[in-house]
Amino acid sequence: MIRILIIGQGLAGTALAWRLHERGVPFVIVDREEPVTCSKVAAGLITPVTGMRLKVSWRFEVFYPEALRFYRNIGKRLGRRVFFPRGYVRLLKNEQERQKWPKRLRESEVGPFVHPQAPQLDPAIVTLSHEGFQQRHAAWLDTVTYLEASRRFFGDAYRQATVEPDEVIDDAEGVVWRGERFSHVVWAQGWQAAKHPLFDWVPFQSALGTILTAKADLKGERRILNRGCWVIPRADGTLRAGSTYEWSFPDPPAGSPSMIADLETKLRDFLAVPVELVGSQSAVRPIIKGRQALLGAHPSHPRVVFFNGLGSKGSLRAPWLARHLAEHLLDGRPLDPEFDLQANDPT
Ligand SMILES: Cc1cc2nc3c(=O)[nH]c(=O)nc-3n(C[C@H](O)[C@H](O)[C@H](O)COP(=O)(O)OP(=O)(O)OC[C@H]3O[C@@H](n4cnc5c(N)ncnc54)[C@H](O)[C@@H]3O)c2cc1C
Repeated sequence: MIRILIIGQGLAGTALAWRLHERGVPFVIVDREEPVTCSKVAAGLITPVTGMRLKVSWRFEVFYPEALRFYRNIGKRLGRRVFFPRGYVRLLKNEQERQKWPKRLRESEVGPFVHPQAPQLDPAIVTLSHEGFQQRHAAWLDTVTYLEASRRFFGDAYRQATVEPDEVIDDAEGVVWRGERFSHVVWAQGWQAAKHPLFDWVPFQSALGTILTAKADLKGERRILNRGCWVIPRADGTLRAGSTYEWSFPDPPAGSPSMIADLETKLRDFLAVPVELVGSQSAVRPIIKGRQALLGAHPSHPRVVFFNGLGSKGSLRAPWLARHLAEHLLDGRPLDPEFDLQANDPT
């Protein structure tokens, strides 16, 4: 009988739990409830045209419709809205971007995501050049509400515990954890999986990120704004701004003061209104070198499964990836080689 143990209730583990729930498959999901995790800190942004290259995010046309349906359905079941489609204004931050953008605009894949109207920003809110574009199909996920409400919904299927790798006994029948038997264990523990003895060969190249919370009167502007850093206005008058990438960081993770100061400077340079800094939060994005995510069973432990490497796109990709993994585990559907852990086995 299939009964799945999920370790980690971040965006990865939570999406998988919902996929199993949809299929009526019993599961237990365990999390150690750290106050700060990647999924709790994340801005939850979903953005079609991203990065300095102004390219459409990889497989956006596949991941986005799935994410939209998934979070809307979950919101209905939870009786809480967790997903917020928003206008997104991307301003061009330098001459390089100004030269690149007209070329990008001629590319057929970019057009569907660009709003025909120019951004039209209030110069009392945003400084300097307003040259840029508005994106369609952008959104943000309220990750904290989604994770908390999902945990409550899972009821007895949710457990608070730290699970050590050697506590999960793997035998011919399945796996056993604290006297309970499961058909599989799925490790969805984010960047900390790099310390798991069965997965220490996975080429993690995780990056620490920091997000600021600030107060500023944006005069009713609700769109997400971006020029050098992004700003998400929130209903309570605060905003979130981010984010940084630090490729080496201490353990336990902490953002470096110089990177935080640099982000604050970008925010103050961007906004024309006074900004009062409320705080900052830092966490580690689980990034796997050369991969957009990896899933599937360990090459020599078929009941020990990995679900990780969501990088900086966890909100966008987790719903599709979780369904893909569920269909693999439940129906035997082959994994897309792009995500197949076994295709990356170094032996
Ligand atoms: C600053 C910042 C900004 C970001 N912004 C965005 C954004 O705008 N949009 C977006 O899509 N993504 C964003 N991300 C990335 C996104 O947060 C990640 O893709 C996603 O959170 C990864 O989810 P995860 O479930 O794999 O890992 P995690 O969130 O790390 O979840 C793993 C969970 O497992 C638990 N755990 C670990 N080990 C154990 C154990 N042994 N026993 C029990 N529990 C355990 C942890 O406590 C944690 O709760 C951002 C990340 C950061 C840091």
